[in-house]
Amino acid sequence: MLDIIALNKTYRTGDRALDDVSLTLPKGQVVGLIGPSGAGKSTLIRCINRLVEPSAGEVRLNGTALTSLSGQGLRQARRRIGMIFQEYALVERLTVMENVLSGRLGYVSFWRSFTRRFPGRDIARAYQLLERVGLSDHVDKRADALSGGQRQRVGIARALEQEPELLLVDEPTASLDPRTSRQIMRLLTEICRENELPAIVNIHDVLLAKQFTDRIIGLRAGKVVFDGRPEELTENV
Ligand code: ADP
Ligand code: ADP
Repeated sequence: MLDIIALNKTYRTGDRALDDVSLTLPKGQVVGLIGPSGAGKSTLIRCINRLVEPSAGEVRLNGTALTSLSGQGLRQARRRIGMIFQEYALVERLTVMENVLSGRLGYVSFWRSFTRRFPGRDIARAYQLLERVGLSDHVDKRADALSGGQRQRVGIARALEQEPELLLVDEPTASLDPRTSRQIMRLLTEICRENELPAIVNIHDVLLAKQFTDRIIGLRAGKVVFDGRPEELTENV
């Protein structure tokens, strides 16, 4: 479970990007984060994993106060949060399997540890995840030989490989065509339900958010202006 309590962020420039944001995500809930450009969506996601330092407030992940950690403690806590990106952030010249295994090591330690052999159980789990996302026939292909939809499937498998307690997903379909976007969103929400994994999805496409998420949070000028079920969203937030 994720608890965000009275989170505030004012940048040094004076921009108030988050204005008292509070929300609780139960296990398995997929939240679509919508709102116009500049509403604070990226800032909210970045404050959760502390890529941006909040000005005030607290973020708790299954009891751990992420906002009061530093150094090694923060690095360990970040390993509990899976990230999925708009541009996939794959290592292009590595294979699908290698990209997925990189999730287990973490992005920083990946290069240092790459020559180390992975235990068989890690490879078995990566293979299972690749099966789940529909890529078991592409395990040894290089990332740069994949389509956009396939790349995002690798991104999803890599995030799951680290056995996260939370997924933060930043515009996962912004580089994909409409049909592939729907497939990716369906896969993402199914996987979250199967694994009781909560997710926050920054999604600019309101129709996709309505179709595939369990709950919509609308942000505007750093404030939560809508928090409800997708079918309750009647106008654009
Ligand atoms: P969104 O993701 O909804 O487009 P952002 O979180 O990127 O919104 O931005 C929220 C507000 O914070 C905007 O006014 C933006 O200009 C400002 N902002 C975002 N990042 C920074 C930054 N690094 N420094 C200063 N202001 C920023
Ligand atoms: P995104 O594509 O995630 O919305 P942007 O294109 O808005 O990101 O911003 C790109 C980078 O610039 C980000 O690191 C963001 O934090 C930073 N940024 C955004 N708005 C501002 C701002 N007003 N002042 C300084 N930095 C900003």
